[in-house]
Amino acid sequence: MAKILFLVIGFLIVYAILKSYKKKVERRGEPPRGAEDMVRCAQCGVHLPRSESLTTNNQAYYCCADHRRTHERTS
Ligand SMILES: [Zn+2]
Repeated sequence: MAKILFLVIGFLIVYAILKSYKKKVERRGEPPRGAEDMVRCAQCGVHLPRSESLTTNNQAYYCCADHRRTHERTS
């Protein structure tokens, strides 16, 4: 009888350890939040993160100052 009780307690301990381990893994595996918006260069069409782009007051995005200048000259 004592042997069965020991087995049950042992099983409960293992179960508790596995449960806490799983919770830890799940928390670490969360996807990164706030994935950045991608914008398109109005001159060459390359895609780049919004924070790395250059913009003008007419809502257009550019990959570099050179393309902004070129596009503003041609439009
Ligand atoms: Zn460009």
